[in-house]
Amino acid sequence: MQLIDGKATAKAIKAEIAEEVKNMLAAGKRPPHLAAVLVGHDGGSETYVAYKIKDCEEVGFRSSLVRFEDNVTETELLERIDRLNSDKELDGFIVQLPLPDHISAQKIIEAIDPAKDVDGFHPVNVGKMVIGLPSFTSATPMGIVELLKRYGIETSGKNCVIVGRSNIVGRPLSILMSQKSINATVTVAHSRTKELKRVCADADILIAALGAPEFIKSDMVKDGAVVIDVGTTRVKSNETKSGFRLKGDVDYGSVAPKCSFITPVPGGVGPMTRVSLLLNTLKAASG
Ligand code: NAP
Repeated sequence: MQLIDGKATAKAIKAEIAEEVKNMLAAGKRPPHLAAVLVGHDGGSETYVAYKIKDCEEVGFRSSLVRFEDNVTETELLERIDRLNSDKELDGFIVQLPLPDHISAQKIIEAIDPAKDVDGFHPVNVGKMVIGLPSFTSATPMGIVELLKRYGIETSGKNCVIVGRSNIVGRPLSILMSQKSINATVTVAHSRTKELKRVCADADILIAALGAPEFIKSDMVKDGAVVIDVGTTRVKSNETKSGFRLKGDVDYGSVAPKCSFITPVPGGVGPMTRVSLLLNTLKAASG
């Protein structure tokens, strides 16, 4: 079994990005600039945005944080998005989700200029990705595909089962994995899938993105399968200072010995999601 080290891979990609930024500066260009819009004070969102800003600093990007209290109106937020869309000094921005209930996340996403939509959530980018045109692809699926490539994992003709069909992970990933450059035969499983154990056990590449800690047990995994664990659920723990730890969707202890390759949690898909946002921002700045 070989561990797929997302942390080390992301570090290597960050070094490549930093080099690219140096080249841009040497050519007299300004560094790529990413903004994050944060509404309210949700702990998880605060942490994710802080990571995004730290990542920008590490590779030499400029970053901005646009903060609103959670009583901001949808109209106020839309007005700010309009200004970000027309800001010539800004290459891309993200609106951290979830948003408060009185704001339509879909309306906000659709207000973002697709050319600055580095999260790849705008329907224009999703549509372009589906038909294989250049686009911004959402970060987690993009990071997973990059991991498979960098580890030289054969995908052509392989049976790929993805458990989960969310718009940010499972569904876009299913499209990417079926594209001609990757050529996997894809099954998307979800909560209504019958005989899930049998479906999963048929996978050469099994991708778990359901958000149920340790759901995938060893009897759901074929010998020699590649297993990608997207799940990150915070569970209480007495063993950490913070009082919680992240658990994946795969029962790592029993599954890992059966795999050819497996991602750990943490240190697998998560760091690749973060670095993919940087890659999209670099692309926005270069385009
Ligand atoms: P989500 O929107 O809640 O979607 C979960 C999907 O899993 C749904 O399609 C659901 O089916 C399916 N599902 C749930 N329980 C199931 C079961 N028992 N059997 C079969 N299918 C089941 O979740 P998400 O946003 O895609 O995230 C999934 C997990 O990935 C979460 O743990 C999240 O924290 C993690 N995540 C990690 C990263 C990262 O960078 N590492 C990034 C994004 C998300 P239905 O559609 O039928 O309801």
